[in-house]
Amino acid sequence: MPSPTQPAPPLPEPLRVAVADSHTHLDMQEPSVEEALSAAAAVGVGTLVQVGCDLERSRWAAETAARHPEVHAAVALHPNEAPRAAERGELDSSLAEIERLAGLPQVLAVGETGLDYFRTGEDGIGSQQHSFRAHIAIAKRTERALVIHDRDAHADVLRILDEEGAPERTVFHCFSGDAEMARLCASKGWFMSFAGNVTFKNAQPLRDALAVAPPELVLVETDAPFLTPAPYRGRTNAPYLVPVTLRAMAATKGMSEDSLAEHVAANTARAFGY
Ligand SMILES: [Zn+2]
Ligand SMILES: [Zn+2]
Repeated sequence: MPSPTQPAPPLPEPLRVAVADSHTHLDMQEPSVEEALSAAAAVGVGTLVQVGCDLERSRWAAETAARHPEVHAAVALHPNEAPRAAERGELDSSLAEIERLAGLPQVLAVGETGLDYFRTGEDGIGSQQHSFRAHIAIAKRTERALVIHDRDAHADVLRILDEEGAPERTVFHCFSGDAEMARLCASKGWFMSFAGNVTFKNAQPLRDALAVAPPELVLVETDAPFLTPAPYRGRTNAPYLVPVTLRAMAATKGMSEDSLAEHVAANTARAFGY
């Protein structure tokens, strides 16, 4: 988690067309939920998807979404949590509880689930893949969107999605593929959500992916407190910084800010079904 040793970035110029932060972790951010929501609303980020990463934080996401109409919840065991739950002998009971939470009306997505070969070693891959398959099934049974976390695991994520059959609405959060993968996702009708790392100097392959992604399938997210966009890299991220990333994305796509924002707003509502 970034350490708040540097001052918080200033509020960006408000968006004229309001969009959603399609993926955030308010439970890992310093300000209160109310402060985070009002800063976001002040710059045209009127809707948030709060993502839970383990059982306790998925319950918190559902409770927070129940209290705030502009917050929707996503619930899951994060791919890095799955092996830990398996080690405690709690993976299957936790998955059953995730399914119960997924059925709540304010919970619109199952995720983030998927594969993370960056943080989880060889010995965790089995339980990670088992958990991913189970989450795909839960999303389909509960008719919720599926939110995928894919870190250094493109080939296996795509293979397992293919084997299980992707839910009708599938979102690649913090999309990290190249142009070829973006074309593949587009051919399947999968949403691609871009985070602050699309602004990083070394992220040209990611910008190439964004450039070919159809405007009808593009979302924006912060994944806050992580992945703070340039020029604030290294500081703590928050939903109110969505406009910084969205503006950089519009430049990459050669679109006006308003036009991209209109697409993103409609896409996020379609992806999550609100
Ligand atoms: Zn993630
Ligand atoms: Zn996340």
